[in-house]
Amino acid sequence: MCAIIGISGLDEAAVSVAVGLHALQHRGQEAAGIISFDGERLHEHRQTGLSGGIFTPAVLESLPGRAAIGHDRYSTSGVKQHDAVLQARDAQPMASFFAFGSLAIAHNGNLTNEKELRHGLMRAGHLFQSEVDTEVALKLIGSALGETLLDRMQTALLLLEGAYSLIMLTNRKLIGVRDPLGIRPLVLGRLNGAFVLSSETCALSALNATFVREVEPGEIVIVEDGDITSHRFTEVKPRRPCIFEYVYFSRPDSVSEEKDIYAVRKALGCELAKEAPADVDMIVPIPDSGNPAALGFSQQSGIPFELAIVRNHYVGRVFIQPTQQERGKNVALKLSPNERLLKGKSIVLVDDSLVRGTTAKRVITRLKEIGVREVHLRITSPPWRHGCYYGIDEADPQRRVAKPRTTQAEVEAYVREITGATSVAYLSLDGMYRAVYGTARNSACPQACDACFTGDFPTALTDTFAGRIH
Ligand code: SF4
Repeated sequence: MCAIIGISGLDEAAVSVAVGLHALQHRGQEAAGIISFDGERLHEHRQTGLSGGIFTPAVLESLPGRAAIGHDRYSTSGVKQHDAVLQARDAQPMASFFAFGSLAIAHNGNLTNEKELRHGLMRAGHLFQSEVDTEVALKLIGSALGETLLDRMQTALLLLEGAYSLIMLTNRKLIGVRDPLGIRPLVLGRLNGAFVLSSETCALSALNATFVREVEPGEIVIVEDGDITSHRFTEVKPRRPCIFEYVYFSRPDSVSEEKDIYAVRKALGCELAKEAPADVDMIVPIPDSGNPAALGFSQQSGIPFELAIVRNHYVGRVFIQPTQQERGKNVALKLSPNERLLKGKSIVLVDDSLVRGTTAKRVITRLKEIGVREVHLRITSPPWRHGCYYGIDEADPQRRVAKPRTTQAEVEAYVREITGATSVAYLSLDGMYRAVYGTARNSACPQACDACFTGDFPTALTDTFAGRIH
């Protein structure tokens, strides 16, 4: 996860970047930062917490200039939330000085050869101030050989493995980079003549900016003096965007890879209603991320949709709470079933994914306490068997309910046992592909990264096979 945004050519650019970070807050809630450039020097502010609380008018006044980049942090490398001092240290964007002036960088994704690259740079004498892979990318670009920054990027980016969308800011340039397979998203927009780069289109909507296009996998876009140029650092390869962006990560009002996230989520529910119908009184989502899929399930099945569980919006997103205890506590605070609506009823309970079963177990236990007769749990993605090395941290893989060699039926039986659900069904891999792409998965040429479901990782995993991760 993580969110990145950059703007060039707009008065008080940092104010608009802060608005964009607020719209992208669902992608990371541990820390946020903005670096602006006022024509002479960089100004920066990074802090733990939510962007809305961090970027007060006084803070934004300290970030002058017509160009700025920002970042919402979700820790997938470096330290976790429980150490606030180190969290602040690892917050982004990061900046350094190099041969061509200042260079600031914000990153969404995860490098799968970060440890190897870091050790190489350290052996060559480089000092590091953080544990995050973004600093490795910054040092590689800054120290690569080349006459221009573009030359250096084209050299350094070839060394990176894994998933990365980058936004960079120099004294003159705003730069966007997307990894060769386009695993993480990055879009380009226009706002009153300015250029905007963002993780998702929902930030463009929040700014009233116009969507122009996706940054292409393997592309570098450079905004300079009000103009934009496009360059490549790899040959064109088949795209492998993260399929979980459609299921869970992206905001439902975003558009990604020309697909309307809301429509895809409804289609996921629709496919699941075909694959695993149930004769019940109502279809109920686990809000908010389960809402569109439950609506699709309802429309396909003809069974009424009810918002019978209320979400408290003032508690952090459960999936990205780092400890099991915090997650459990937050689920109880966050999701409240409506007893008057639910007592004595049978329901299909729709959620988008199930990794540890924390949320489903607590919700189903509470539903039974208030007298719900039957709870048929339906998950609009396949079992998460393999984890992710591209920017999604699932904490302890031992707690994952699905293991690489378990069948879908075995996982469903196990989840039924641990959650107390009347029945459990996951959407099949082909069902997920039908919802996203309109066709079943073509194993000869999968259209997306689906590695957490299939184990088919689209990049090398150098650090993993060196025994350094998990
Ligand atoms: Fe997305 Fe899963 Fe691939 Fe990670 S492994 S990038 S979560 S599809």
